[in-house]
Amino acid sequence: QPLTLSGIQASGSLHLGNYLGALKRFVAGQHDQPTFVFVADLHAITVWQDPALLAAQTREIAAAYLAAGLDPKSAAIFPQSAVRAHTELAWIFNCVARLGWLDRMTQFKEKSGKHKERASVGLYTYPVLQAADILLYRATHVPVGADQKQHLELTRDVAAKFNNDYGAPAGQPDFFPLPEPVIQGPATRVMSLRDGLAKMSKSDPSDLSRINLLDDADAIAAKIRKAKTDPEPLPDTLEALEARPEAKNLVAIYAALADRSEADVLAEYAGQGFGAFKPALAEVAVHALGPVTAEMRRLMNDPAEIDRVLKDGAQRAAAVAEPVLAETRRLVGFWNA
Ligand code: ATP
Ligand code: MG
Repeated sequence: QPLTLSGIQASGSLHLGNYLGALKRFVAGQHDQPTFVFVADLHAITVWQDPALLAAQTREIAAAYLAAGLDPKSAAIFPQSAVRAHTELAWIFNCVARLGWLDRMTQFKEKSGKHKERASVGLYTYPVLQAADILLYRATHVPVGADQKQHLELTRDVAAKFNNDYGAPAGQPDFFPLPEPVIQGPATRVMSLRDGLAKMSKSDPSDLSRINLLDDADAIAAKIRKAKTDPEPLPDTLEALEARPEAKNLVAIYAALADRSEADVLAEYAGQGFGAFKPALAEVAVHALGPVTAEMRRLMNDPAEIDRVLKDGAQRAAAVAEPVLAETRRLVGFWNA
């Protein structure tokens, strides 16, 4: 049956890219089919996280899910580490995935930087854990930003190789369905405000590079004012934007937040400089994000409420995951008395 699953790492401040590329998509699909959305704390620790902050970061992401409009009665919202089966299936998949597949992963190359020998082994096998996250629920639809496309392809490779190596329970078709990435919406790749060629990221050391979901109106306006741009006025065609990544990004953000097409935004602002466009963009951003920020802050003052949601979500997730893990163990041939 169709099932949607996705997650966001508990690795820092949620930003506009997470909101447009991921959160809004989860919310859009939550009533169409069963939806499981987790806070990826196992993924977060592939890069050191302060243990004193990790649980708070986990609650913060859960607050963002709720503030963005996920309904915990329909979507199961849970911490990844609370469903132990993720880790166990990831080990089995570490033995299915090939080194050559992981060697091609561009996210590892970007995140490990110049000294890849100093990166954690977990950062390297991150996409294998992601395959386990998805296949543990036999998910068919995975809404993500464009940066996750390569990892989703690896998940499909893991599923196909597992199916090929271990078969399926008697009389059933392939055990793991091949999941489809759902990379949709107007802003599947929001770029950094400081560099139009780098994606906006939680882990970017520059806070000026991103609009955080917890930024207030003044911070949003200041970051947009300081955003890197070129000196030209806005053009009147989308083609003319292609060679101007920073300008293109700001127009794309405006369009996504105002629920308008990029062409429509250009039709209004063509010929105007950033002196006029940036304050207009700041206004649109504050208008769209203000209510989400306010609701997030309210929820973060009520950790008991968030914990109830996470606990209930973890139970519902485990109820789906455990039988899949049990069958996987049987197919692999593990002892079971
Ligand atoms: P980190 O820098 O720690 O990897 P991140 O900002 O990339 O953080 P993730 O938790 O890795 O955030 O990703 C959560 C979801 O947000 C994924 O679906 C990812 O594709 C999406 N996403 C992340 N950055 C962007 C972006 N700039 N534009 C659109 N979607 C994004
Ligand atoms: Mg990421």
